This record gives sequence, structure tokens and C-alpha cells, in this order.
Amino acid sequence: MMKKKLWLTVVFYVALAAGQQAMAWGVTGHRVVAEVAQRHLSKKAKKAIAELIGNQGLAYWANWSDFVKSDTTGKWKAADAWHYINISGNLSKERFLDSLPRIKAPNVYGQIQALQADVKNTTLSLQARREAFVFILHLVGDMHQPLHVGRAEDLGGNRIPVYWFDKKTNLHSVWDNDLVGFQQYGYKEFADVLNVATKEQVAGLQNGTLADWLYDTYQLANKVYSMAVPEERLGYKYNYIFQEPLEQQLLKGGLRLAALLNQTFN
Ligand SMILES: [Zn+2]
Repeated sequence: MMKKKLWLTVVFYVALAAGQQAMAWGVTGHRVVAEVAQRHLSKKAKKAIAELIGNQGLAYWANWSDFVKSDTTGKWKAADAWHYINISGNLSKERFLDSLPRIKAPNVYGQIQALQADVKNTTLSLQARREAFVFILHLVGDMHQPLHVGRAEDLGGNRIPVYWFDKKTNLHSVWDNDLVGFQQYGYKEFADVLNVATKEQVAGLQNGTLADWLYDTYQLANKVYSMAVPEERLGYKYNYIFQEPLEQQLLKGGLRLAALLNQTFN
């Protein structure tokens, strides 16, 4: 009897822990970002990337950085904090940009820059440069998920319980998975739908620094927070409000990833 009870308790806590683990843009979202980027790479970048990761496209590698969260050797433990940044809400652009470099905890902003330097550093092993590259693919996607530029007090929406239709979940997870899944595209179809910007529009979206891009996501995060109501049942109306911003974030993520890679391999 006791044994069975203990087992159930273990199952319960494992399930709880699994439910709380945020994966960041689900598998599809990350592939969409990578697929859009793939279509905007320079010739030079394509060649350098093939030398690093071989013949698979970017989308194939886009989720590896989330998968290594399950690595048990401890090699990737510190990388858990690379996927997001916590920052207080509703700062002016000036204050936001001012506070960014002062955030000492490992975060997506500092890490993308560090990894970019690693990829360029040819004294590192091919394996180390490959891993740094694959992480960049993923993190530029993550920094466009508004709740990855969220607030510490609710762990980027992980502690804001909501329903997606009848499913009990949290706001972070709605943005990682449910909204993306609701569109019912495969990742290539989604990339087709998004990849219709003109040359001028593409240049406009790619303009700015990494910090500018982060502030752009942050503004959407503030809007998402302003509408967050714990225990609310989200569904059709939420999709109606946020479908376009969601699509914009995936497109921007892809175009800016391409810009960053073209610059890295220039
Ligand atoms: Zn992630």
C-alpha cells in the first residue's frame, strides 16, 4: 500500500515538473523562424554554415538547444538561463537600453553576443563552434517570443495560470505552443505564408541592433502582460487579437536571424 502511494507521489511531482518546464517557442515555432532565415541567407553564409553543420537546413537544428535541457551529464546545465531575459515592465526605450548591459545574470542578450564571438573564433574546435552556432539559431527565435523578455516575478508568464480552451496551462505555454499550433500549419507552410515581405520591408525589419530587436519584443511583452488575467479562459478571441503579432514575431525572428548570420559570416 505504502509503496503504491509513494509511487503515485513520485509520478505526480514528475508530471508537475514536466508541466512547468517551459520549452520556449515550441518545436514548430522554432522551425518556422529557422526556415524563414534559411530563405534569406547570403551565399557566403550558406557556404560557411554548410561547413559547420553539414547539409541539413537550419530548421533541422532549431530545437536542439531545448532538447539538451534533458541532458543528464551536467554539460548544459548553465545553458538553461540563456533562453530568456527578465526585466521589469513598461520601461521607456532609454531606460530599457540602459538596463540591458547591467543585467549580470546569464541571459539571451549577452549570450547571443558571446556565441557569435565563439562561432567566429577559429581557434575553437569545430564541435564547439558548431554548438555555439546551433544555440544562436535557437536563441534568436526565443528572443522574439514576447514572454522570453518577461518579468522575473511570474517567470515570464509561467506562473500566470490560464486555460487554452478547456486545457489548464499557463500564459507562457500559450505563447510557446498553443497560439502557434492553433494556426494549423506545418513549419514550411507557415514560412511560405510569412515570407511575402518586399525587399524594403525586409530591410526595415532587419534594421537595428540586437538591443533594438529585444526592445521591439519587449513592447509586445508589455501588451501581453497588460491583458493577462489569471485563470482566464483564452481561445478564439485571444487568437483574434494576437494572430498578427504572433506572425510578425516569427517573421522578424527569421529575418533577423538571417541578418545576424549574414553579418557573422561576412
Ligand atoms: Zn528556448
